Amino acid sequence: MNPSTEARRQRAAQTLADPRWAAVLARDSSVDEHFWYSVRTTGVYCRPSCGARTPRPENVDFHASRESARDAGFRACKRCRPEQAPSALRQVELIAEACRLLQALDPAPDLAALAGRLGLSPWHLHRLFKTHTGVTPRAYVAALRAGKFREGLSRGDKVIDAAYEAGFGSSRAVYEQGTALLGMSPRRYRSGGSDMTLHFAISPCALGQVLVAASERGICAILLGDAPGPLEDELRSRFPAARLELADTGFSDTVARVVALIDEPSGGFALPLDVRGTAFQQRVWEALRRIPSGSTTTYSELAKLLGSPKAVRAVASACAANPVAVAIPCHRVVRRDGALAGYRWGLERKKALLALEGGS
Ligand SMILES: [Zn+2]
Repeated sequence: MNPSTEARRQRAAQTLADPRWAAVLARDSSVDEHFWYSVRTTGVYCRPSCGARTPRPENVDFHASRESARDAGFRACKRCRPEQAPSALRQVELIAEACRLLQALDPAPDLAALAGRLGLSPWHLHRLFKTHTGVTPRAYVAALRAGKFREGLSRGDKVIDAAYEAGFGSSRAVYEQGTALLGMSPRRYRSGGSDMTLHFAISPCALGQVLVAASERGICAILLGDAPGPLEDELRSRFPAARLELADTGFSDTVARVVALIDEPSGGFALPLDVRGTAFQQRVWEALRRIPSGSTTTYSELAKLLGSPKAVRAVASACAANPVAVAIPCHRVVRRDGALAGYRWGLERKKALLALEGGS
């Protein structure tokens, strides 16, 4: 066997043994953006899903990025246009994958490493990530970290243990970023702060029962339900270690005003709120408060208004995380086709609130 025949045989064997080859044979679009392949005889490189004739395995090389294929001297295929940005749908999948990787890998990869794994340039990844989630990858990692940190603190871990567990290099880093991350100092968050007392009361209202809870700074929860027991459970799960105390009669005026608001949601609400959330949630909640009574908007309009038109899902989950029913009118957001979409406290209540407002 002459040497070049032997080399071809070896290259073919290598390709056949590579799991990526099966994806090329299947023209599997789900792995587009995971790798590219080039063809020696034509000098072009393709996406795995390319519809062109399947090349002979001995002529195929795999590439982890477009750059690698280009650096090896290959031109982009005219048919599958592998040099172009992935379609909008693929973008969503890519960013979902980016989020998954950021959650799964410890330590979380930096922008360049993440971009490398996804076959994008760091700049492009940064831009796509921001468009689809409303935050930068760095802010996303910080939020994940804060979530882990909160969990640790809620379990009763020491601040320092929870900090290391969550991937902070030092407890100092936590204290420096603490207030921004948690909305209060870590020591205070620890039990919803053991130094934090919430007063709450439950009252019947037009929509069943309403639980109203307040810190010394303002109302921190307005929850709707059918029975007092589950409402108190919901409050406890939102503020796992705060001291919960039944309010005395001095609180009844506040409760009466909340009940009045539910009876007549168009009436407006002047009591101070003490709502804690991520920076993004706070922006969404601010925008919700500007939707006039009697009108509705959609998740995508809201996302556009916030300057993150692709962050529709992030907007929807911020709406769902709203801790104060009616006072922050997340019930005024509906689906684009006019359907009511979801409501944290039940669709019937959303329908009833919109009917009370007399809007469309
Ligand atoms: Zn192609």
